[in-house]
Amino acid sequence: MLRITGGTIVTPEAMIRGDVLTDGAQIAAIGRVDAAGATPLPADGCLVLPGIIDCHVHYLLTSGAYTTRDDFASASRAAAAGGVTTAIDYVTQHKGESFQAAIAGRRAEAEGQVYIDYGLHLIVTDVGQGQLDEVAAVVAGGVPSAKVYTTYKASGFYLDDWSWYRLLQRAGAAGLLVTVHAENDDLLEGRKAELVRAGATALRYHAEARPALAEVEAVHRGLLLARSAGAPVYFVHLSSPASVHAIREARRAGQRAFAETCTHYLTLTDEVYAGPHPERYLMTPPLRGAAEQQELWRALAAGDIDCVGSDHCGYSLDQRLGLDFTRVSPGIPGTELLLPLLYSEGVARGRIAPSQLVRVIADAPARLFGLYPRKGTIVPGADADLVIYDPAERWTVSADALHSRAGYSPYEGLTVQGRVRTTISRGEVIYDRGQFTGTPGRGRFVPGRPFAPEGVAAG
Ligand SMILES: [Zn+2]
Repeated sequence: MLRITGGTIVTPEAMIRGDVLTDGAQIAAIGRVDAAGATPLPADGCLVLPGIIDCHVHYLLTSGAYTTRDDFASASRAAAAGGVTTAIDYVTQHKGESFQAAIAGRRAEAEGQVYIDYGLHLIVTDVGQGQLDEVAAVVAGGVPSAKVYTTYKASGFYLDDWSWYRLLQRAGAAGLLVTVHAENDDLLEGRKAELVRAGATALRYHAEARPALAEVEAVHRGLLLARSAGAPVYFVHLSSPASVHAIREARRAGQRAFAETCTHYLTLTDEVYAGPHPERYLMTPPLRGAAEQQELWRALAAGDIDCVGSDHCGYSLDQRLGLDFTRVSPGIPGTELLLPLLYSEGVARGRIAPSQLVRVIADAPARLFGLYPRKGTIVPGADADLVIYDPAERWTVSADALHSRAGYSPYEGLTVQGRVRTTISRGEVIYDRGQFTGTPGRGRFVPGRPFAPEGVAAG
């Protein structure tokens, strides 16, 4: 039993001064607790948050010629240091492969490696009749979300509109939430060819090659397809406020549509591409301008963005040496900084309330991906996944002090307000003031329940 004392408990509804008592792997009580025999864990001056759910991570990803340096162990260890207690990783279905075989393979890769609990999203690349008939079993097996890519033909991730539409038609009744990487492939390929003809293939042209128009078009298309199919739809890693506005309008019209953005779109801008290190910022979609970023913050505060993920993807910089933007495997590390950056740039700067922070990186991901109320909240009976966050500490990001094997950080040199002091997973302290006390392999697969989110904004 642990008794976390003297902190301020943050929930989506309120800030509560009080203690949290754990009993074994679960939360036993909050507020004024009776706790003879519990081990005290002082949290005076600190915030006590639900364990963070990073709903968008790629722990061990092969794309193009490269495999991320981060694997399940190194990425989930970095996550633990950042207060993340549940990560939702992606399973790639290869062409012709059954959905369930892909999921079983991914779980085998994760087995014995992971420091924190994890869920899975299924990346759908091939929808034959056999696969469509598997949808109900996939959901029953604890994977209630699938992702489709509207781009990346060359690396095999792309799913054509007809296949995507057929998946949506099955999804609604099955309790599957279809999530979408929205970028119109034809617009991207056309723009890329134009830049190649002009000889503009250096890494600094990455953002110019992927205009916001491509994202916004694919979001509109996705909204239309999902509405026609009667299915809910969720758009991952949105970079453009125009995409968020389209989703907000659809919600107002009664559609079940959801929006996710990522830490980097809220904290970095496209000016970095003209700087000395464009190789540190090669994610898709790319970073946008300062005005767009301000609008994303407003949308986050207003509840028009449901979730924030890190899109952690631990390629190292040497995997980009000598490449032009057309050959790079995109992705940046970031799961360890999801909470600190959102606190520092969001809460400490007065852009979002602490309750909204908890909503977008714990409560809403748990509800949307079927983990609520076991994860994402601080109530008796929930898993005792907790973070003690010291809002007073101020520090500077240095990749040397972070734990991803990517070996660099796009946030290098940024000053951060507040720091993760202690991370608790199922009642066990797994990270405390710089020390890892958890072990790889203690993390478990957490099956998600079918999509049926209570209390999530749905028009
Ligand atoms: Zn991603």
